[in-house]
Amino acid sequence: MKGIFPLQKLEQHRTPFYYYDVELLRETLRTIQAEASKHEGFCVHYAIKANANPKVLKIIREAGLGADCVSGGEIEASIRAGFPNQKIVYAGVGKSDWEINLGLDNDIFCFNVESIPELEVINELAAAKGKQARVAFRLNPNVGAHTHANITTGLAENKFGIDMRDMLTVIEEASKMANIKVVGLHFHIGSQILDMGDFEALCNRVNELQNELERHRICLEHINVGGGLGIDYQHPNRVPIPDFKAYFDTYAKKLKLRNGQTLHFELGRAVVAQCGSLITRTLYIKNGYVKKFCIVDAGFTDLIRPALYQAYHKIENLSSEEPMEAYDVVGPICESTDVFAKQVDIHKAHRGDLIAIRSAGAYGEIMASQYNCRRLPEGFTSEDI
Ligand SMILES: *Cc1c(COP(=O)(O)O)cnc(C)c1O
Repeated sequence: MKGIFPLQKLEQHRTPFYYYDVELLRETLRTIQAEASKHEGFCVHYAIKANANPKVLKIIREAGLGADCVSGGEIEASIRAGFPNQKIVYAGVGKSDWEINLGLDNDIFCFNVESIPELEVINELAAAKGKQARVAFRLNPNVGAHTHANITTGLAENKFGIDMRDMLTVIEEASKMANIKVVGLHFHIGSQILDMGDFEALCNRVNELQNELERHRICLEHINVGGGLGIDYQHPNRVPIPDFKAYFDTYAKKLKLRNGQTLHFELGRAVVAQCGSLITRTLYIKNGYVKKFCIVDAGFTDLIRPALYQAYHKIENLSSEEPMEAYDVVGPICESTDVFAKQVDIHKAHRGDLIAIRSAGAYGEIMASQYNCRRLPEGFTSEDI
C-alpha cells in the first residue's frame, strides 16, 4: 500500500513534515456524517485539540461538523476556520477570564463547566456584558475506559468534571444565577477507546442521571458524551476508517434521549489520526553490537506520542524494497526517550530513505515543540504538496 504516498512529491520537501491524505479525511468525514445522520438529534463536533492545522480544519468545517475547544486559542482557531459560533463548545478545567470573555463575545453554543467557582466567574463576566451564558455541566461519571492510564478522564480520581453526586446541587446553584442558562450535561471518559462496552457503561450512567433529573422535573436541551473513539494503529491500511457505525449505533441503542433532546459528540482522534503521517528522512544507519539503529531526522519534538504514552505507530520505509531488517528507529534529540520504535521490521534502510510514521494525524503536529531549538514541522496536504 505504499502507493498511497506520492514519493516524488514528498522528496521535494525538507523533512521532517506532516503529510495529510485529504481524500481519506473526506471519506472519513462522509462516513461520520452518514452514520450519525441515521439517528435523530445526533450532532458531531470535532475536538480541535487533536489537530488544528488550518487546512485540516477547513475540510472538517466544510463537512458540517461543529468545534469542540479546550482553550481560547482553539476558539480563535475554529472561528478563523469558519466554524459557526453556534456550533462551538468550550470545555476545560481551567478557563481564564479572557477565554471566557472570548466565548461570551462570540455567543458560543455552550460552556462545559467543570466546577462551581468557574460557574460563578462565568456568571459575573456574563453579567458585565449583559449576556446569558449557556452552560452544560461536565460530570465525572466514574466510568473507566480500558485504555492507557494517562488518557482516562472519567474516573473519580481524575481532575476533570464535577462529581456526579453533586449534579442536582450544581443545577440548583446555577438556577439562582441570573446570567447562566443550564442547557446540558457533558461527559468525556477517555481516549483511544475500542471497546464499545465502555461507551455502553457511559450510556447506562447517563440514563441513571437523567432518571434522577426527571424525578425533579428537570429536562435539559442536550447531552454531550464527548469523544474517545479509538483507531487501529496496527493496521492503518486495512482499517483506515474507524467503526463509526458501531459507535453511533451503541449510543442510539443504549442512551435514552428525552423528547426533543439532542446528543452531541466530540470526536478528535477518530476523525484525523489515520489521514496523517510524519515523513522523515534516514540520516544514518548505526550498527551496534546488539542491534541496528535507524537514526532519522524527526524526533519527539515532532511526534511525542511514543515517548509520552509508549504509543505504537506503524513505521514504513517508503524508499526501499529490500528485505526487512529489524531496527530501533530513533530521533536526534538528546534524550533516551527519543525512540519511535524498538526492533521494528522495515525494508533495509539507507541514508536518505524516506520513512513514514503512520497514523500520526491526531496529537502529532499540534503537540510539536521546539526543544533543542528545533524547527516546528510543517504540514502539507495531498492537495497542496
Ligand atoms: C480530548 C477531548 C476530546 C477528544 O478526544 P478523542 O479521544 O481525540 O476523541 C473530546 N472532548 C473533550 C472534552 C476532550 O478533552
